[in-house]
Amino acid sequence: MNGIVYLVGAGPGDPKLLTLRAKECLERADVVFYDALANPAVLRWARNDTERIYVGKRSGDHSVPQEEMNALLVETAKTGKTVVRLKGGDPFVFGRGGEEAEELVAAGVPFEVVPGITSPIAASAYAGIPLTHRDYASSVAFVTGHEDPTKPEEAVRWRSLSASVDTIAILMGMSQLEAIVAELVAGGRSPDTPVAVVQWGTRANQRTVVSTLARVSADVAAAAMGSPAIVVVGGVARLRDTLRWFDAKPLFGKRIVVTRAREQASGLVDLLTELGADVVECPTIRTEPVTETSAVDSAIRSLDSFDWVVFTSSNAVRYFWERLESAEFDARAFRSAKMIAIGPATDAALRQRGIRADFAPKQSRSEAVLEEFGEAKGLRFLIPGGESSRDALRDGWLRGGAEVVVAPTYRTISDTSGIEAVRDGLERGEIAAVTFTSGSTVENFIDALGVPDGAKWLSTTRVATIGPVTSEVARSHGIQVAVEAANASVEALADAIVERFRLEDSKNESR
Ligand code: SAH
Repeated sequence: MNGIVYLVGAGPGDPKLLTLRAKECLERADVVFYDALANPAVLRWARNDTERIYVGKRSGDHSVPQEEMNALLVETAKTGKTVVRLKGGDPFVFGRGGEEAEELVAAGVPFEVVPGITSPIAASAYAGIPLTHRDYASSVAFVTGHEDPTKPEEAVRWRSLSASVDTIAILMGMSQLEAIVAELVAGGRSPDTPVAVVQWGTRANQRTVVSTLARVSADVAAAAMGSPAIVVVGGVARLRDTLRWFDAKPLFGKRIVVTRAREQASGLVDLLTELGADVVECPTIRTEPVTETSAVDSAIRSLDSFDWVVFTSSNAVRYFWERLESAEFDARAFRSAKMIAIGPATDAALRQRGIRADFAPKQSRSEAVLEEFGEAKGLRFLIPGGESSRDALRDGWLRGGAEVVVAPTYRTISDTSGIEAVRDGLERGEIAAVTFTSGSTVENFIDALGVPDGAKWLSTTRVATIGPVTSEVARSHGIQVAVEAANASVEALADAIVERFRLEDSKNESR
């Protein structure tokens, strides 16, 4: 029985430029063959048990030869598997997708093509260059610059292209750039024609040089630019000056580490990514439900006996609701018990469950919460939270004459996947900032680094924390804190990071 082969375009690099259809195919795939220009980040849409096979070039090595690739696709599909052949950009634009499809037809293997955003379109857009424009360009050509333009058998007619097409977008053109430029000028283009070269378009490491036909080879060499890059020739390249947007984002080009547990990190990761940062996730901890649930389960059965249920984090909300639901209760189980939400994320987690907290202190530190809350004598509190949470709230209320039940719902365990890449990055000074969203992320990160002098490793970067409690923990390890959020929210943390870089940049400029 034959399976099917999807020839899928992975887009130019930014994983969010994957099409919905491509995502659907990846979700179905039994096997994915991917090559060098398909960003492996999009493989996250494949199932855990999907085979992921790299068929591109490794440094020094060669990619799987085309005949072998064709045979691999045919053979795998013939075993009945659903195969995704994932290619950078679009599979039918200089992607050899045509050849592969021909082979599949010859072998009687069903196939479909999923177009992707091709790099000349994407890289230009992200560089702020419209490929057509009513004033400057009514035609555009995608051309391969792979072949030596001075060879007589060269397939690309550069001189006639030069004379007949307004915008020329060249792929694979870096090694022959000088010869190509000479041909274009020989074909009649003015040496003053604007040219933009965009390397690693749409990625966090995108680089762009704007020049002219006369100077571009020298400028590219001076900027040490190489493949993969798109060369855009034509008047439209001039528009980048006005339309530049992607690499103008406040955190563009800054590599920032998020140490928060993966289940909780997405908010901060999305925010920083949106601001242009190159975000590296390095969780070091993750949370899991406690196995011993009798305390929280019995509290849930008698929720009504508490005056206040105190949620200290969005995790506390999430894991408490898991217990609530596994007991087949819903939010009505609280009955007359009121709720406290400490911190904006906790408040948001309750709202997601249709609940507005009765009390949301302005500050998140336990001492401040106790003070804002006021008289607690005779009240009964339930604090469902992490196994090793700080007990300052409980102690404070006990001292104030209240009754307090602490019922753990989750625990935090270490997760060191990803630390090596970060350690290398720190060593090379490539990491612009490391974010900490709790004292435990600091402790765990230092532990995960696995070096005696953790603080020293952080001296090559800027440490950014979500608030004074986290900063205190960092300082107690000898870490210098460069950025602190104005309130305990990921939004405030992102704002503070932006502000810090803005200040640094304006200082550099005034020098
Ligand atoms: N099928 C691909 C092209 C493959 S040919 C597509 O549709 O985009 C490989 C060439 O694509 C590279 O040499 C480079 O010129 C270009 N390219 C691919 N990704 C790129 C990127 N992110 N930025 C700039 N150029 C890119």
